[in-house]
Amino acid sequence: MGKKGFNTTNLHSDRRDNPEHGVLHKAIHTSVAYGYDDARQLAEVFQGKRAGYNYGRQLNPTVSALQNRITAMEDGIATAAFATGMAAIASTLLSLLRQGDHIVSSAYLFGNTNSLFGTLQTLGIEVSFVDATDVSHVESAIQKNTRLVFVETIANPATQIADLKAIGELCEDRNLIYCVDNTMTSPHLFSPKTVAASLIVNSLTKYIGGHGNALGGAVTDTGIYNWSKFTNIYDTYKTQAPELWGITQIKKKGLRDMGASLGPEAAHHLAVGSETLSLRMDKACSNAKILAEYCAQNSKVNRVYYPGLKSHPQHQRAKELFKDFGALFSIDLVDNVDCFDILNKMDNIVSSSNLGDTRSLAIPVAHTIYFEMGAERRASMGIADSMLRFSIGIEDIEDLLQDFQQALA
Ligand SMILES: *Cc1c(COP(=O)(O)O)cnc(C)c1O
Repeated sequence: MGKKGFNTTNLHSDRRDNPEHGVLHKAIHTSVAYGYDDARQLAEVFQGKRAGYNYGRQLNPTVSALQNRITAMEDGIATAAFATGMAAIASTLLSLLRQGDHIVSSAYLFGNTNSLFGTLQTLGIEVSFVDATDVSHVESAIQKNTRLVFVETIANPATQIADLKAIGELCEDRNLIYCVDNTMTSPHLFSPKTVAASLIVNSLTKYIGGHGNALGGAVTDTGIYNWSKFTNIYDTYKTQAPELWGITQIKKKGLRDMGASLGPEAAHHLAVGSETLSLRMDKACSNAKILAEYCAQNSKVNRVYYPGLKSHPQHQRAKELFKDFGALFSIDLVDNVDCFDILNKMDNIVSSSNLGDTRSLAIPVAHTIYFEMGAERRASMGIADSMLRFSIGIEDIEDLLQDFQQALA
């Protein structure tokens, strides 16, 4: 049998894993602990000699089924799921990096990731922030102690697109871990494995879960990075094949020791949500394109940030790499138009901080999610005071258009 398509694989994922009673959805397993009739088997599970469950912080059957779905979606070899996307990022980096290490990061980052990298700096892990839309900036920032490069696919809110393919080649050449946050594109629009990503981060809270009703995060190993060349793997985690060393250390240090584990109820919501990822994303992308194009010709709008516009600096790159241009865009208003007034005139678009929901949401960026970082860093990231970010949902386009028409009249 040939390899099945993205949707078919996902829809039948739980069923293929021989679930109890032939259920089509993996059950929500709430048990924290697992009993063994033979105490020797319990010991073997602890020692990694037998597959099995020992304690809910490390593994849970419902979460494990979700991990398998994400692994299949990203065409990877293994996934660790976490309570949130931030937990996935923090646990991954804290598991793999040590004091004195250096990472190169895109300067265009999700705000909380940016803040987290500031914390890493206080712990003795150096971070260089560069304009990752051009690989040459990443290359010049590499030092002798560089271990990892971190980028997002489409940055939020200004939609810069990292030089994903060239950075992948650079990381392979320099033997660096290439960590790609695929949240904004989701595995439906983009497969970071095709640009040689080592680790793929997804906030499951966003497009994969898709309904704004559960938090979750994941990191997937693509199998591309050769962990036997990585000096930070502890000897105890080198018992299996080298391709599993990285994810094993992330699960042991990140999940078991740091403990931001995903709950089974959330895992179930996220798994069900993921089944319609393609349908939702296609509709949301189509809606976003129409609205971004409307904004681009509106006189109250100074600038539109959307990779689907020909004027976008990385439009060609987005066309080559992604199935579509994403469902998020931002606008800067012209002087004397108040961003709060515009939002308050919208009826179907909710003033809200999330993205990747089925509902359209909007936020005044500088005054909310990017407030804490201060004016200077905002300016360096190209975030204007009047910027509005729209995460477009799957509503009927006529209703969304009407909102924009009356708010920007
Ligand atoms: C939301 C988001 C995160 C964090 O995910 P949470 O699930 O909210 O913790 C990380 N990266 C990107 C690009 C995001 O949009």
